[in-house]
Amino acid sequence: MKIPTLRQTVCYWLLASLLGSALLGYRALREQQERFLQDSSIAHRLLSQKTVQHDAVLATLAQLETPPAAERLLAGLQPALPQLLAIGRWQAGRWQGSAPEPAGLSAALHHAAQLRSAQTLPAGGGSYWLVDASGWSLLIDAHRLLAGSDWPPALARISLDLPGGELALLARQPQPAPWGWLLAVDKRLPAASQPFAFHSRRVLTPAEWPWGQWLALSALLALLLGLTRARLQVRAQRHQAQEQARLANLNRLGTLGEMAAGIAHELNQPLTAILANVRAAERMLDDEDERDTVRQALQTSAAQARRAADIVGRLRAMVTQPGGGCTALDPQPLLESLLVLRHDELASRRIALSWDNASPAARLQAEPVALEQILHNLVQNAAEALGSRGGHIRLRGEALGNRYWLTVSDDGPGIPPEVLPRLFQPFFTTREGGMGLGLSLSETLAHGMHGQLTAANLPAGGACFTLSLPLAEEQT
Ligand code: ADP
Repeated sequence: MKIPTLRQTVCYWLLASLLGSALLGYRALREQQERFLQDSSIAHRLLSQKTVQHDAVLATLAQLETPPAAERLLAGLQPALPQLLAIGRWQAGRWQGSAPEPAGLSAALHHAAQLRSAQTLPAGGGSYWLVDASGWSLLIDAHRLLAGSDWPPALARISLDLPGGELALLARQPQPAPWGWLLAVDKRLPAASQPFAFHSRRVLTPAEWPWGQWLALSALLALLLGLTRARLQVRAQRHQAQEQARLANLNRLGTLGEMAAGIAHELNQPLTAILANVRAAERMLDDEDERDTVRQALQTSAAQARRAADIVGRLRAMVTQPGGGCTALDPQPLLESLLVLRHDELASRRIALSWDNASPAARLQAEPVALEQILHNLVQNAAEALGSRGGHIRLRGEALGNRYWLTVSDDGPGIPPEVLPRLFQPFFTTREGGMGLGLSLSETLAHGMHGQLTAANLPAGGACFTLSLPLAEEQT
């Protein structure tokens, strides 16, 4: 699984927090709304009961045959109905009451008789007269319909549309309402005589939003995402380490394979030479006149076998003490021995091999077997480039600056320009049956001696390989 970047993780966290918060907010809002609806309906019911009580009182009064004086009635009813401010009665064209006759009484009486229901008259200051067709009238203070402690807790503002205008009964939130989510209930009171509109309002202000839950959720999500990311990172690191170990194993196998191929390549030439010499010697064994040729063939075979042993010894040394073995070296004997070793074989292919030492006094810092191997490879390549038509391979040595320059040039077809950049790549070859290891091995050996191997084409045609090596200390 891909590890998200820090920015992606923050985006996921924001998205998850927003979604989670929206859900939590919605749930909290629903809870508050339900409580508000419940409490509004309780308040509505309580107010309805009060208004219905007024109708019941008026009905009871209308039944009385010899009612007591209005003041006495008021004193008796007020403990149960604290909202009752006054009682009066219009009878036989006369008003008798604990308060003066309300304005518009006769019209209200007329309407009440017509509609068979008590009528309201505004009395100012949040109170109203309730006038019954029987002539009985009650002055009610709407403020006192419910005592302060009777209002349910989830309510904020309650108002009633009275005959004289809207009256605020509860004001726990200021007006105009603060900013937030508005909850509202609008209903009429069911009493036929007092069908006032009931309004309940509450604004859920930001202070009431579920900040605590939101914060806890965000913190929890941050923790979860952080932990998940850390776990993914640890897993990826473990995976990477395993991959690296696997690659290292593969590399080791590859190096082993390359080495085996290299050994095969290096031993191929001396073994082929030994085989050719031994076969030639075998053929001439019974011929007395060819005794010297047989001896020479056996000596060459012995020298090639020694070289093969040296190559193996050098490879062993490279494994046990890489880079070691460089000494101050006179190239002359080494080149002479190479000339002797390769002479017959090359001569048979009509290839001349020459050596020109322009700085005979020069001593170079090199490992003899490695140098010999490089030169053998370069001569072998030149011979292969010349092929069956024959030609000339020139070896030349010269001290210039603080280095010794050894060139191996031929007058063959040269190196095609597209091949030049890939020449030293392992396993690159243009020859059928070639392994493409000679030049890469030679370059590795040159580097091991602080040397450099380069290739170029000669203006007159043919290829020229140049090996530069450091001069030995005393000469530089
Ligand atoms: P191999 O000899 O097995 O092909 P090398 O690494 O020795 O591998 O050589 C790589 C290639 O370089 C050869 O296939 C050949 O194309 C080119 N090459 C090397 N020496 C010469 C040369 N003297 N003249 C022309 N091409 C050469």
